[in-house]
Amino acid sequence: MVEVVPLRAFKDNYIWTLRDARHAAVVDPGDAQPVLDYLARERLALVAILATHHHPDHVGGVAALTAAHPAPVYGPRGEPIPALTHPVGGGDHAVISELGLRFAVLEIPGHTRAHVAYYGEKMLFCGDTLFACGCGRLFEGTPEQMYASLAKLAALPDDTLVYCGHEYTLANIGFAKAVEPENRALAEREQADADLRALNRPTLPSTIGREKATNPFLRCLEPAVIESANKYLGARASTPTQVFAAIRKWKNEF
Ligand SMILES: [Zn+2]
Repeated sequence: MVEVVPLRAFKDNYIWTLRDARHAAVVDPGDAQPVLDYLARERLALVAILATHHHPDHVGGVAALTAAHPAPVYGPRGEPIPALTHPVGGGDHAVISELGLRFAVLEIPGHTRAHVAYYGEKMLFCGDTLFACGCGRLFEGTPEQMYASLAKLAALPDDTLVYCGHEYTLANIGFAKAVEPENRALAEREQADADLRALNRPTLPSTIGREKATNPFLRCLEPAVIESANKYLGARASTPTQVFAAIRKWKNEF
């Protein structure tokens, strides 16, 4: 039985750790120390590292981890991932046999040029592309790319558990309410997630179904979202990608 444990790093990063009684794999270890401490305390062998993209708060701990615990490192082909042993792209799989896990690699460019997600066992590890009630900034990609990447993730089954890289949920909900003030699912979500944060618990994982109901970046076909985008633009967005680009820009200024 595999359990998913969030290890905290920096201000608001999560290093998702998949474990059984003896083995562990980590996703996006931006810092080695929380992982080293956890492996020692729980007496676990590190059997894989999965990287979604090259930003230091996601891969900064990889070199120190592999120095202490040699393990395969999966990461996007075409991004500078330290100690990368298994460069992957769309259609590839990350197989962690010790944990009985097999993840499909999804290419989801936009935040970075070759960002990937790992999907399997009803779990999605999506780094800084899809956030709970938000999405990543467009550092290296275009709105077209990011919109297509988010659409790819939104097409996964509703009960897929969404493990993203940061605890940004409450701030994201604040913006989502500005876009869709009448969305009741959003108001309910705010209450539930505020309760979790008050107890210092993660608001993650989310689910694809919850994101489709509340995340404005997955709702660019909703009349209320289109109307808000048009208001922000002072013009009519004529495609869903333009709606997406408008609210992404608005969020940067929010
Ligand atoms: Zn990033």
